[in-house]
Amino acid sequence: MQRDTNRVKRSFLQWLHKRSNPGLIVNSCFLIVLIFSTLLTWREVVVLEDAYISSQRNHLETVANALDRQLQFSVDKMLFFRHSMGDALQTPLAFGVLHDAVLRFSSLRATPNWQIALDRKRTLPINGVSDAFVEKTTLLNRDNTRLNSELSAALEVGYLLRLASSDKRKEVRVVYVSRAGFFLATDATDKSEDIAPRYYQLVTQPWFTQQSERGNRARAVRWFISPASAFVGKEPLITASVPIYYDHFWYGVVAMDFTFGTMKRLLEDAMDDHTEGEYQLYDTRLNMIATSERPDNQASRFDKRETAQIARAIESDTQGGIRLGSRFISWERLDHFDGVVLRIHTLNEGVRGDFGSISIVLALLWALFTAMLLISWLVIRRMVSNMYTLQHSLQWQAWHDPLTRLNNRGALFERAKILAMQCQQQSRPFSVIQIDLDCFKSINDRFGHQAGDKVLSHAAGIIASGLREGELAGRVGGEEFCVVLPGVALPEAAAIAERIRSRINSREILVQKSTTLRISASFGVSCAHEKGNYEFEQLQSIADTRLYQAKQGGRNQVVWQDHPRK
Ligand code: GH3
Ligand code: MG
Ligand code: MG
Repeated sequence: MQRDTNRVKRSFLQWLHKRSNPGLIVNSCFLIVLIFSTLLTWREVVVLEDAYISSQRNHLETVANALDRQLQFSVDKMLFFRHSMGDALQTPLAFGVLHDAVLRFSSLRATPNWQIALDRKRTLPINGVSDAFVEKTTLLNRDNTRLNSELSAALEVGYLLRLASSDKRKEVRVVYVSRAGFFLATDATDKSEDIAPRYYQLVTQPWFTQQSERGNRARAVRWFISPASAFVGKEPLITASVPIYYDHFWYGVVAMDFTFGTMKRLLEDAMDDHTEGEYQLYDTRLNMIATSERPDNQASRFDKRETAQIARAIESDTQGGIRLGSRFISWERLDHFDGVVLRIHTLNEGVRGDFGSISIVLALLWALFTAMLLISWLVIRRMVSNMYTLQHSLQWQAWHDPLTRLNNRGALFERAKILAMQCQQQSRPFSVIQIDLDCFKSINDRFGHQAGDKVLSHAAGIIASGLREGELAGRVGGEEFCVVLPGVALPEAAAIAERIRSRINSREILVQKSTTLRISASFGVSCAHEKGNYEFEQLQSIADTRLYQAKQGGRNQVVWQDHPRK
């Protein structure tokens, strides 16, 4: 069991050693570090982006809340009018002036344009139209049972309307439009012939018609944009309106108008010291009402596609943010206005801010780290590859003879022993050929050592080229070679030796300029099957003895059997 696990461990280590390419390991390590550093930087970027978005939202919320507070004041005022109207309808004041006014109305109600004014300095005049006008549509209703109390309530509230609207900083106009064919307005006209057209204009506005029982079930304050017209003026107006209901009857509508300019001023007041970034106020259909920039600043305008994109985003999320090109847009719906405030922050402003500088530093750090990583990767790759080549060359030198490029003596002995053992285990033959060049000393003597070396490598080339896979050749001495033939029987080995001998002997070698030389070699062959002895040294020694016999026999021959001693 223990032996088995050891074997598995050893074979795994061998496999790892064979597979492990140092270059691949270095590449993988650097890649992992690069991926992790990039992931970390990316995570930082995401955290930074979240922080940026929440800072954008903070700025926006502060401005939106301030604007909301200002608008709430107007909305509260309107709700106060509604409340006062309800109170006045419930318990009308028993003042003589009010009674007189109601009496005057009975005499005027049939005329096309009429006006009842009590005291112009303190209250607002009531402007009205004829019974015939009111009867034309079911939207209007001059209910005689409620009319007297409504008229006196309207006169009473007219006093409040006039008082409250003296603050010209906000609303440009406050009106009460009754379904019973009359209205009170802080900007009432003096021309009596204007009354009917004006009343017609008022009761046909969406802010009036859409406040019916069905149109506004919640009876809450609603906001509208009234287009420019004769009575509104050259500029369109923003109108907030609230219906007056009492005793399940819809009396009319209190409305307040704001100019776009007023909204811009409110927006600017709300911004206070949040001067960075642009703020824009839109209605629910994304028509721009006001901007903190100059309205002709085209840089912050959105095209149709962008507007649609923002509209979709606002639809799905009442407060959020999106990136459009180089701009970041965040929005917040207002509680007291049917619209939304947008904050537009450009890349330019972003880069100049804190988040921009942190992002730049982060990007630079990442680039620096990556550059350093790449450089060190290149250096280490080169070092590893050099070491790899060096290791290979040292290994080769340790096992080979540099002159002949054959196995050296040590390598040949070690490998031959292993091969012999394998053949013994498989009961295969195992042959050894011992080779010695003939009269080599005289070649050295005649042509010099260099020529001798040339002859040696020439002979080694011929020996190596005659081998098959699994067979070994080595230089075991000065001009002595040994060939190891696993699985080859003695006669076959002798034939191989004979083939090598004849090839060595058949070629002329150019040893010096215009001097060629024919050499020869003597061969001794032995085989393990002869005596069943697989000891490599023994086999080599037998082959050596036969080689000696070949020399004795006149050289240039193969001896593979022991000659009987003469
Ligand atoms: P024989 O036919 O009896 O083998 O005669 P031989 O001259 O070949 O035998 P011997 O063993 O006397 O001579 C071998 C010579 O080989 C001696 C040495 O000078 C030469 N020699 C050994 N190693 C090298 C070598 O690396 N290069 C060269 N050029 N000569 C070498
Ligand atoms: Mg020799
Ligand atoms: Mg020799």
